[in-house]
Amino acid sequence: MSGKQFALGLIGWPLEHSLSPVIHTAALRSCELQGEYLPYPIPPLPEGAQALRVILDDLRRGKIDGLNVTIPHKQSVVPLLDHLTPVARAIGAVNTILRDGRELIGDNTDMQGFLRDLSSALSPRVGGALVLGAGGAARAVVYGLCKSKWKVWVASRRLDQATELANSINSMCISPVSSISLEAGEIEPITPEITLIVNATPLGMASNLDASPWPLGLPLPWDAMIYDLVYVPQETAFVRSANKNGLRATTGLGMLIEQAALAFELWTGQQASKSVMRGAVKATDAQTNRSGGI
Ligand code: NAP
Repeated sequence: MSGKQFALGLIGWPLEHSLSPVIHTAALRSCELQGEYLPYPIPPLPEGAQALRVILDDLRRGKIDGLNVTIPHKQSVVPLLDHLTPVARAIGAVNTILRDGRELIGDNTDMQGFLRDLSSALSPRVGGALVLGAGGAARAVVYGLCKSKWKVWVASRRLDQATELANSINSMCISPVSSISLEAGEIEPITPEITLIVNATPLGMASNLDASPWPLGLPLPWDAMIYDLVYVPQETAFVRSANKNGLRATTGLGMLIEQAALAFELWTGQQASKSVMRGAVKATDAQTNRSGGI
């Protein structure tokens, strides 16, 4: 083992069900590194403002070596950092913070984590993609797809949210991003062009087990693949109905592992074993019922 003790962690609220401590502890062990990855629950702003400043100061002074960021702080940390990577700037959210000297750099590994797992789990041919939901994770997915030359539609229950996302990404990509309402009547006309559907809403999560983001009564496109960002449970209602219709589909555990592996490498310079990380999650799943969040 090397002598360095890594102090890593996650800021967000609430964090009781986060899988990241399990994943990163397994990563440390798999690389034979000493250290720990701790949850730092920080309430939403304005209540958590002081705690957020204190922990970022600990990172700046070297008491902590690296931090993940999850809901509700992915955007609120941005003004407290010195630099953003181009990807974090484009997505407008940070999920990983690292230190360079005394400067704090905000990065976002969700986009690359999604693209890597999309490719290894489904390896779709580039075509038309429909993203359901227009929150933080959707931003990373839409930007990644659009940079990979997919023609993208974003569908949300509040059309203005999808339109705002589409407008901000359109200025950075050549491939077009369009916005529609998350309703059967709006989705039906574009289904012939859709070869990939991504669920970026929380529908189907453990707290919402039987819910599906796909409009009731609308047939799924016959040749589409389904990527559901939800990763607990391991098979969502959406994935189940896709499989019943003969479509290839996956949930988001692979993305969770990939984004964690990318962050771990940024902090430690080492590549952790993804199968060890995945195995640690499966062992935890066997013991408890978890719900979403990194
Ligand atoms: P978020 O920022 O809160 O966005 C959620 C989106 O879903 C919003 O557009 C929201 O619309 C919409 N939505 C929520 N409830 C809905 C409903 N009942 N019907 C229709 N739309 C609804 O959340 P997020 O961070 O993007 O996360 C979204 C999901 O992705 C979560 O399940 C999260 O666990 C998962 N995720 C997975 C990974 C991974 O590595 N696999 C990474 C990140 C996120 P409103 O604003 O109108 O509520």
